[in-house]
Amino acid sequence: MSDPKRVYNLNPGPAALPLEVLQQAQAEMLDYKGSGMSVMEISHRSKEFEGILQTADADLRELLGIPSNYKILFLQGGASLQFTMLPMNLRATGSADYILTGTWSKTAFKEAEKLGATRAAASTESEGFAALPSKLDLDPKAAYLHFTSNETIHGVEYFKEPQPPADVPLICDASSDFISRPVDVSKYALIYAGAQKNVGPAGLTIVIVREDLLGRAQKGTPTVMDYKQQADAGSMLNTPATYAIYVAGLVFKWIKRAGGLAGIEQRNLAKANLLYDFLDHSGFFRNPVAKSDRSRMNVQVTLADPKLDAEFLKGAEERGMVQLKGHRSVGGMRASIYNAMRLEGVQHLVAYMKEFEARHG
Ligand code: PMP
Repeated sequence: MSDPKRVYNLNPGPAALPLEVLQQAQAEMLDYKGSGMSVMEISHRSKEFEGILQTADADLRELLGIPSNYKILFLQGGASLQFTMLPMNLRATGSADYILTGTWSKTAFKEAEKLGATRAAASTESEGFAALPSKLDLDPKAAYLHFTSNETIHGVEYFKEPQPPADVPLICDASSDFISRPVDVSKYALIYAGAQKNVGPAGLTIVIVREDLLGRAQKGTPTVMDYKQQADAGSMLNTPATYAIYVAGLVFKWIKRAGGLAGIEQRNLAKANLLYDFLDHSGFFRNPVAKSDRSRMNVQVTLADPKLDAEFLKGAEERGMVQLKGHRSVGGMRASIYNAMRLEGVQHLVAYMKEFEARHG
């Protein structure tokens, strides 16, 4: 590794950031571009911060090919606050459809249910959330259709968007696969993502919303939770997460240098293929997810004998691979291999799994 003190961080979020990004943030920490201040100390109304925000907006727009009739909002409250903001803003009347494919879409559904009419268009819970649904029961009059493009805990990912009925807005929680590959934003009415996986530090939530959806908030929606008010104020109704936005901007530049989202997708595919290929040929480790729906970001790894989990995790730590423990609700291991994880890290993991299997298999 280029920096001996850094580990291979396989945490699902907050997650590893590219070393170059951290080094640039470090270099600019005390004096941002001759201002004599850290970005953390600069007014959000200053021209320096205005430049940071505008550049981040323009770079993200370029990376994802976001059409001009979409706004990018740089908000706070995590993806979890979007679970509430969505129905408040987009379901003033009627009912909303949710596709339940794992813990996160189920959580989004439950939060929306608290505030009004909500339907499950499909659920794969009885199959342990190990595959995407083959059929949807869609309401043609739904206020919107919500899905989670990547289930961080269950490790299932959509590579082709579900098709909503005509005129039903498609909404996506893309928290854990945002900017990991190109997507056609024009198919979506709204995409949201917490930053702390592929984008930057926790505290920033990105919302990409088509302009015709603005101004539909139900009565009583708090100002900072109203998409239109946030859009009109350029995400500056109140103090935004300035430092997180700055680091996100550095990450967008890093992706541009890495060949944009097409380049990042190739890297992500190579990592995921290496890991799944190993798992499929191992008689000792396995992945429970249907092949076509396997996440490229969060790879579940199950040992033939769960009693060996602790020993496996301990050995991984000794070899510089941390945070491999699976979510407590599913057990086993989970390797989160977001954009910033290099192929070398996955090679290191596979080599260790081979060694462990030879010892115990
Ligand atoms: N959705 C998904 C897919 C997630 O992975 C997470 C966090 N792990 C959330 C929502 C909740 O995000 P936050 O912690 O930013 O509220």
